[in-house]
Formats: sequence, structure tokens, C-alpha cells
Amino acid sequence: MSLGSYPTPIEHLSALSRVGAELWVKRDDRTASRYGGNKVRKLEHLLEDARARKKTRIVTIGAAGSHHVLATGVFAIDAGFGVDALLVAQPRTEHVANNLRASLRLGVRVHPVTPLSLPFELLRLLGRDAYFVTAGGSNTVGSLGYVDAARELAEQVKSGVMPEPELIVTTLGSGGTVAGLAAGLEREGLRTRVLGVAVADPPWLVELLARRLARGCARRIGVAGSSAALDARLVVERRYLGRGYGHATPWGGWATQRAAAQGIALDATYTAKAFACALDLVRAKKARHILYWHTLSSAPMAPLLDGSIEEREFPASIGSLLR
Ligand SMILES: *Cc1c(COP(=O)(O)O)cnc(C)c1O
Repeated sequence: MSLGSYPTPIEHLSALSRVGAELWVKRDDRTASRYGGNKVRKLEHLLEDARARKKTRIVTIGAAGSHHVLATGVFAIDAGFGVDALLVAQPRTEHVANNLRASLRLGVRVHPVTPLSLPFELLRLLGRDAYFVTAGGSNTVGSLGYVDAARELAEQVKSGVMPEPELIVTTLGSGGTVAGLAAGLEREGLRTRVLGVAVADPPWLVELLARRLARGCARRIGVAGSSAALDARLVVERRYLGRGYGHATPWGGWATQRAAAQGIALDATYTAKAFACALDLVRAKKARHILYWHTLSSAPMAPLLDGSIEEREFPASIGSLLR
């Protein structure tokens, strides 16, 4: 199922490059015009699988301002599915509140849960018509979207859009992005390594799950070879997390300003932390060609918020999702 328009552009960020360390950006913020970001490629495979299995309802989970839940609202409802989302609380920011308002407006049925009540609520919502999608869309099916993306990059490198990067830097949340890229790059035979900047906690678990997902993905696409090679291809950086998932950091704030000057909007939860890392790698000249893979939608939110309810009109249970 095709939801986006590809290939997404690759741009050179000359103002943020140094001699011997060039910075490039892969504009996956523009995967689709209605709502972009990295969840679009995953949903192409997930919704196709749901349809093939004759399911009519997507059941998924996420934090209150989940981009994955919002993207599912945009694309699954458009494709004729119902969407039930189990949401846990998240620190309140304007961005998080708007994502939640937009999801509600699209018709996502929001079920507020706590980490403890989640399994019970999930059991209650599952049924024969339901297709379960894990947080962030990051199972082996969803990750196939980033196997596609690795092929897209290989083709762009081949046609001279950019030199083969030694390093891709991107955000590591639920792991589907880095896992699919690592498995896909292994298949394409590029030497590019993937550096995932962990933004969820505990980081050791985030890393473990991402590595397991990368192996599962490689098996699924029939990439032979050792898991040692795959493990070496994926590097996990834990030092940019700060106080935890959803908590802004000073280095993220600084990176957000630098990116804004180049016309790239970042968010505090995911992309600010990864971009801060990319800038540090350029400064330290860790590689000659560094590709920052942008994962946040840059589609305007106004059309998605049009007709949505204000935050102060939220029912109490939904309001409590914003801490
Ligand atoms: C979901 C998300 C990520 C994390 O990607 P994973 O595949 O879950 O690791 C990164 N950036 C943004 C903006 C996201 O919405």
C-alpha cells in the first residue's frame, strides 16, 4: 500500500558542515503531504497486512501525543479502518496536546490507560476484527518500511544525490526505523552504519529491543550473514536522553535553534536529541559524510486541527493524559 511520495529529498546542510565532516539531511518529514514523518513508511506495510488478513479495526498503543497514533488516524481511517488507541500520560507540551487533539478530531477512539491497566484494556479491545499494532508501529512488518527506505537511499547514492554516508544519525524510540535501516543496508551492501540516539527509557531495554528487531527484520527479508555484522552496523547512543522520554534537554533546545535557521523544525521528544548528536559528530569530525535522517512530520497541523476540540474541553480522563 503506497501512502507517501518517494524518494524523499536529500539535502546538504552546508552551513552546519565542517571541512572533512559534511552534514546531510534525509527529508522523511516529507513522506506524505497530509502527514509526514517516519510512521508513514511503516503504515504502508502494516495496513497492507491488516487488509490482507481481512481486519477492519486497528488497535494500537502509544503516549498521549504519539505521532504513530496520529499517523494511524490519518492513514488507517482514510483506508476504511476503525482505530482504537490506548494512550498513556506524557509530559504536556503544546505539540503533544495538538497531536492528541488532531487524533481525536480524526475519529481515533482514545482509551486512557496507565502502564498497569494497559494489558487488561488491551485484552478487552482485541477481537476477531482487530489488527494489533505495537507502539510506534515497530514490529517486523512495520520495520519493512525502513528496509524500503534503505533501498531508496542506495539508489540515491548510486545516482549521485550524495556520496555514500559512513553514518546515518536518527532517533531511536521503538526501534523500527533503525532496525529496518540496518537490515536493509546490510542487504544493499552499503557500508553505512546506523547510529540511533535513544530517546526512550530505560535505554538498555530500548537498545535490546532494537537489536532484536533488526535481527528479526534481517531474517524476514532473507539477509544471510552473521548477526555480529548486523550488531556492528547498529550503534546506540544513550547520552542525549536527559531526564527521560518526553523531557526536553538544553542540548536539544540548542540543536532546535540551529536546525530552525536551516528551515528544519524539530520536536523536543525525538528529533532535537538526535540532531544535537549529529551536530556533535560533525564538530568532532567523526565521519566525512553524516546523514541525519529526519523523522518528524513537517506537514502543517492547521488542517488537522480544524474543527478539533480545545484542550480545556477535554473530558477529565483524556485531560489527565497531559501531565
Ligand atoms: C516515532 C518517532 C521516532 C522513533 O522512531 P522509532 O522507529 O519508533 O524508533 C522518531 N522521531 C519521530 C518524530 C517519531 O514520531
